[in-house]
Amino acid sequence: MKQKNEIVVLGAGESGTGAAVLAKKHDLPVFVSDKGKISEQYRRVLKQFEIDFEENGHDTVRIFAAAKVVKSPGIPDTVPMIRQLKEKGVPVISEIEFASGFTQAKKICITGSNGKTTTTLLTYHILKNAGLNVGLAGNVGRSFAWQVAFHNFDWYVLEISSFQLDGMYRFKADIAVLLNITPDHLDRYDNDFQKYTDSKFRILQNQTENDYFVFWADDPVIRKEMKKRKIKAIPVPYGEHSANQYPGAGITGKKIRFNNDKNSFDMTLEQLALQGKHNTYNSMAAGVAAHLMEIRKETIKQSLSDFQNIAHRLEYVASVHGITFINDSKATNINSTWYALEYMEKPTVWIVGGVDKGNDYDILKPLVAEKVKAIVCLGLDNRHIHKAFEGLVESIIDTESAREAVTTAYYLAKKGDAVLLSPACASFDLFENYEDRGNQFKAAVNEL
Ligand code: ADP
Repeated sequence: MKQKNEIVVLGAGESGTGAAVLAKKHDLPVFVSDKGKISEQYRRVLKQFEIDFEENGHDTVRIFAAAKVVKSPGIPDTVPMIRQLKEKGVPVISEIEFASGFTQAKKICITGSNGKTTTTLLTYHILKNAGLNVGLAGNVGRSFAWQVAFHNFDWYVLEISSFQLDGMYRFKADIAVLLNITPDHLDRYDNDFQKYTDSKFRILQNQTENDYFVFWADDPVIRKEMKKRKIKAIPVPYGEHSANQYPGAGITGKKIRFNNDKNSFDMTLEQLALQGKHNTYNSMAAGVAAHLMEIRKETIKQSLSDFQNIAHRLEYVASVHGITFINDSKATNINSTWYALEYMEKPTVWIVGGVDKGNDYDILKPLVAEKVKAIVCLGLDNRHIHKAFEGLVESIIDTESAREAVTTAYYLAKKGDAVLLSPACASFDLFENYEDRGNQFKAAVNEL
């Protein structure tokens, strides 16, 4: 039954259910509304905590009477109901914003177009090894709200997407990390790259002179944007040329140098568990953030060198008759695939395709010409790929399942070659999601 000052949660996924449970734990009136069917897992939780909910449609009268709406990041700001709620003056916030009001914990917040999950897990791994009472949340694992409801952490490492940032107003990061900004999700930002950039820079809002802003100093978009803005937090650049920045991290020869404002230490590139240029940057971001917290250099070095790689990100699958198979199914945009191709050292059969979010393949051409011998398309509509790369590689072959793609690639590859799944596209035409695509790829490789 509707109550005064009700909090309405739109969308009963991981973040929405977490927010509802947190509200309930604080005895706040809360109602969950989902346009679609709520999955069994979350329905059970809502029932267990006696939370009022509806599914397969919205009770708009009740929703419009809300004191506050917590919106799932999956719902675009442009849908009529959200627009109307805002016009009416009902605050519409994200789950991260909501949950941050219930914890005093300090927060390291990681955003960027690519590398968020990797860097978040790396940072968490260091803090955990340092013995801190630390939680991991955001897009990975259990939602932030859920953890705030059931734990009492001193620190959180949060992975934050631009969709979460769009609903954040009072939230403050103690250490904000901005990895890079390249075109992605532009469909949600009126195809306006500046709007997407502005969203990413919300990671800095409310920061003071006592907070830190860790950023990739080699990113032209970040650099340009920083010139336009007045940034209060202490800047912490990392990148190729930042070895003399205090605080900061940079590369000298084959080493990374980490500096905070008191001391410095070096670590060789070879020691890093995650290889590839992009992962060097991710390791620098995580390491420099931990160094700011004065975690011992031995702990940082050890953690960056014993981290276990996560699935679907340049994941080694197997070697079959001298052909190496690599699963980079999480590469759903051009930039992440650029780094995958850059990483390849062997002649490569490249599996690419899926739902193209308006890709400009031109920037991949030099790497494709240098490293790729054949292309296997894995998608329903592969016209853009053919158009971009015809003539640049020996052959381009269309396939429509992971198994067909793997057997085709296996046939095209020779001993000493590599087969790389790095699609540069979303997966929804043929798969449930990128994990499903990666898992089917791995299963097919293991059947060879
Ligand atoms: P996100 O959480 O931002 O999607 P992930 O860590 O899951 O990032 O990695 C997504 C994809 O991007 C993977 O293919 C990965 O190899 C690639 N990637 C990881 N870090 C970077 C980076 N710093 N720059 C570009 N691509 C990256």
